[in-house]
Amino acid sequence: MHLAFVASRTQAGLAAHPVTAEIHLGNGLPGFQIVGLSETATREVRSRVKSAIASSHLKWPDFNITVNLAPADHIKQGARFDLPIALGLLVASGQLPPESIDNREFFGELGLDGTLRSFPGALAAVLAATEAGRYCGIAIQGAERLAMIEESQLIGAPDLLTLCAHLKRATPPLLKRAPTELLTTTTYPDLSQLRGQSGLCHVLEVAAAGGHHLLMVGPPGVGKTLAASVLPGLLPPPPASVQRETCLLYDVAGALSYSCPPFRAPHHSSSVASLIGGTAMALPGEISMAHGGVLFLDELAEFPRAVLNQLRQPLENGEIDVTRAAHRYRYPARFQLVAAMNPCPCGFLGEAEGQCRCTPDIIRRYRQSVSGPLMDRIDLHVSLHKPSPRQLLTQNGATQESNDVKHRVAQAQCRQYARQQCLNRELSGDDLLEACSLSASTRTYLIEAVEALGLSARSVHRRLRVARTLADLSGSEPVEASHLNTALSLREAPAPADAVNY
Ligand SMILES: [Zn+2]
Repeated sequence: MHLAFVASRTQAGLAAHPVTAEIHLGNGLPGFQIVGLSETATREVRSRVKSAIASSHLKWPDFNITVNLAPADHIKQGARFDLPIALGLLVASGQLPPESIDNREFFGELGLDGTLRSFPGALAAVLAATEAGRYCGIAIQGAERLAMIEESQLIGAPDLLTLCAHLKRATPPLLKRAPTELLTTTTYPDLSQLRGQSGLCHVLEVAAAGGHHLLMVGPPGVGKTLAASVLPGLLPPPPASVQRETCLLYDVAGALSYSCPPFRAPHHSSSVASLIGGTAMALPGEISMAHGGVLFLDELAEFPRAVLNQLRQPLENGEIDVTRAAHRYRYPARFQLVAAMNPCPCGFLGEAEGQCRCTPDIIRRYRQSVSGPLMDRIDLHVSLHKPSPRQLLTQNGATQESNDVKHRVAQAQCRQYARQQCLNRELSGDDLLEACSLSASTRTYLIEAVEALGLSARSVHRRLRVARTLADLSGSEPVEASHLNTALSLREAPAPADAVNY
């Protein structure tokens, strides 16, 4: 019987669903068709597989070949099925023993010379196969990373011929696990590079400790971009489960380099699909690539409103639903948002030497491009001004270094996880009030301050979250009046819809 069934997997979001490559060699005129792939994809697969088999000195079966990738309702990515199809042809035509593919899964693209290549999403496929207790046949290129998966059984080969030789043996050689980490820690700029900005250094420490989203409003050249790139260096490594999700996301997106914690800074001209996710292959967007790290949006007011509105779901629940051609994938997107914008379109509003000629109306329109609900989710708003020559000269020494701050941030985060199993950023309502454990006098102080400043309920919650982080940084269990005081002063930039005559 000229039939063969080879197990493989297709990508669906971060999951890898089982797919069987069914190969039938029928009588009649020689031909080649693949059920479930488009005509173009079929032609491409046929050319690669035929050339690879010929270059490996194996025989192309002269039959009417039908390949079915089952089940039919999954989206299939063409190139990764080259290897299972080639092996199925060899088994069906008697060039490989049928037991050589039993209880094994195969993934990989074939070069015309028979070379085996890796592909985006290999990590998810090997993880799923390992969980199903199966061996995997893969390309040796890029296999060190895959060999890190615990209990994985990998048969790696540089080309089709070598893999066939391995498979013909009773016990094919398995790849050894290498003592490397899946994610390497990235070095970010040090906090001491922020000269003359001691206030900003403190804000960054608070943002890092409580995971608070941060908005910096200030003129060009004040150090907003540098401050944003310092922040990931202050964060402790994400938990193992988040690191694993980050690895999968990077692998699915075909990114070659990993950074831990991630720092993503997409340009404001990027498309909605590239930011949020959902390009032709429904791949994760920039917000998912920042999972467990920092998403920096420079020139926030220049981003299309549609993009900014889409940020509300991930900011709320740490996930994003990406829909593409009737398929809906859910990607994790739990990031810390750091946004920066100029105070007005020209950027010099409020600067002593500035020549701002923007009218109040222009400034109002500029700021209203960022919606109120998005602003509500940002706990820390700070106004930055260029440091004076005196500040630059007197604070030119390294007052604080990232490593010292990182230590304090890690301690503060430990306190938060021990108390409420989440960061202060995620507290709301009754949980927030309970976590703050305000004394009667502090409560009275807060009520007086709220009335004097005319704050809304949402605004009070934002300040309470920041005050909770300040208390955690100072090692205090209850939130004191001094923490509230500092929290009230930290959110000082006016909201975009506020009056601009300040
Ligand atoms: Zn201006």
